[in-house]
Amino acid sequence: MEKINRRIINNIIYSFKAVWKIDKFVVFLYGLNVLLEKVQPFLYIFLPKVLIDELTSDDADWFKTIGIILAFLIAITAANFIQRSTYSQTSARLIKYKLEKRKELALKIIDIDYSYMENSKTLNEYTLAQNAVGNYCNGMEGMMREMFGFIFSVLTVIGYVSILATLNIFVVLALIIITVVSYFIKQRIASQNMSKREETENCERRSSYYSNVMSDFSYGKEIRIYNAKKFLTDKYNLFNEMGIGIRKKVILQRTKWNFLLNIINLIKGLICYGYLLSAALNGNIQIGSFLMYFVALGGFTGWIEDVTESLAQLRRIDIQVDDYRNFMTIPDMKNGNEHKDIKTVNKIEFKNVWFKYPGTENYVLKNINLCLDTGDKLAVVGKNGGGKTTLIKLLCGLYEPDKGEILYDGINLRDLNRADYVNQLAVIFQTINIFAFSVKANVALCAKDNINAEKVSESLKSSDVDYILSKSHNGLDMSLSKILDDEGIELSGGENQKIALARAIYKNGSVIILDEPTSHLDAIAEKRIYDNYLQIAGNKISVFISHRLASTKFCDNIIMIEDGEIIETGTHDFLIEQDGKYAEMFNIQSVYYKDEGAEILE
Ligand code: ADP
Repeated sequence: MEKINRRIINNIIYSFKAVWKIDKFVVFLYGLNVLLEKVQPFLYIFLPKVLIDELTSDDADWFKTIGIILAFLIAITAANFIQRSTYSQTSARLIKYKLEKRKELALKIIDIDYSYMENSKTLNEYTLAQNAVGNYCNGMEGMMREMFGFIFSVLTVIGYVSILATLNIFVVLALIIITVVSYFIKQRIASQNMSKREETENCERRSSYYSNVMSDFSYGKEIRIYNAKKFLTDKYNLFNEMGIGIRKKVILQRTKWNFLLNIINLIKGLICYGYLLSAALNGNIQIGSFLMYFVALGGFTGWIEDVTESLAQLRRIDIQVDDYRNFMTIPDMKNGNEHKDIKTVNKIEFKNVWFKYPGTENYVLKNINLCLDTGDKLAVVGKNGGGKTTLIKLLCGLYEPDKGEILYDGINLRDLNRADYVNQLAVIFQTINIFAFSVKANVALCAKDNINAEKVSESLKSSDVDYILSKSHNGLDMSLSKILDDEGIELSGGENQKIALARAIYKNGSVIILDEPTSHLDAIAEKRIYDNYLQIAGNKISVFISHRLASTKFCDNIIMIEDGEIIETGTHDFLIEQDGKYAEMFNIQSVYYKDEGAEILE
């Protein structure tokens, strides 16, 4: 996907709308907070002049002087109090904004077209988008903050210019010219920083991967047994050093430009304070005015710095908002328009399906033709890398064929409404994810109130794992992890596989897909699952992937995939009779399964 660089005004409007949509009031509060922050220093400019003018006047009045000081103190205390309160209010309210934005990002990840998910570029873009919502100085919140700051700083600078113009217009002009030069230097520094951000993010993502692996218990066994500590540390150090190297170069450049900036500031100081001093020595200005201009010059320099800094920050944030928006515009899973209230799927057809992964050259599936009717039990077998899982991904609509079509009851999958057909799929993937939820939430994977506890118990029984309920007094509410619950239990790989099967049984879709569902099970458990499977599959369409050919005997039809093509098809007995590749593989495997209790599977 092409990255879009939008105009800054477009991103400013987008940012204000984004915050406004979540909390309108916070925008006003933020504005008030920044206004009060900018107004306070003005009071300090005028106070010394007003006081000295009063004290040095012929009719100096102590009551009036005390009145001025009191009024000043009250004004400054009130402004300060309101500013602090609005600050705490906005910080508290903006938590809601942050949480909403994080949720939006998480939901986007769920909806994103799957072909983008299996792509490291998308992961990089995700990290950049996360940066845009991770911190109050960044992204849309940062843009709002900086815009308010910028507007009020410009107004403040105009205020200072009006004061200083009464001293000498040429000094003000010199100040403005020097400021413009400083601005361009700062812009250059900011764009240099941003130009390297993708490279640094990439290094950071890789180094965090290695540090996560090192600290993740689940990798503990492999790391110890295979002595991977050094390998992981070396990789971690490598990517850290690469990141640090890039940053060092950026910092070196920045130091050079900062040196130039300091020289320019020195010249600016010499011009301004030199002129002011000579005006005072020549008696052109009084002591009160001298003080006022002195403070105003310091203030002006500070504020003008603020304006240029703000512009540089806006440029940085503008890029972040683009990052966020670009990520959010990555296409979602395509959703056909054809709403069909699918109660069951009676027929699935693959017609001349060809598929290759995005960005790759070779077809992983070649001219696949299949027809599955209600009650059909298809086994897909073949060597690793043959294309079995890819076939399932296409069947689930995670990818679209490059050529040919997949039809659900005669309707092209791409034309169907995703929610409608996903409802009909019960899939057990190779990698099983058990959530840190209760048993019943893990099986039902839906909100607490909608869970049918009886159905959950039946599903656990059918998948032969109901005995785990005796492990805790919490029954179906027992948590399947200790991460969020001290009383939670940890299950074995095989038990997790059975929970996944219970999940598929509970869902009761009309298409059931099992991708190596028994790889972690012992032979007896496997046999029991198969017995139950015949019941579960019943009159559904079922697709069963396994590398153990003995386990596919109970299927009515077997296809053998090699190098993306269906090379053999038929029942177990037929394929054995044919004495082709299936028979060859079966005979090799049966030697090994004898020791494992293959007779159980007979
Ligand atoms: P099987 O399930 O039969 O072991 P797969 O369907 O997982 O095989 O893989 C088939 C081929 O597709 C393999 O060569 C694999 O390397 C390749 N492949 C799998 N996933 C991707 C992907 N996301 N991007 C590119 N190639 C992939």
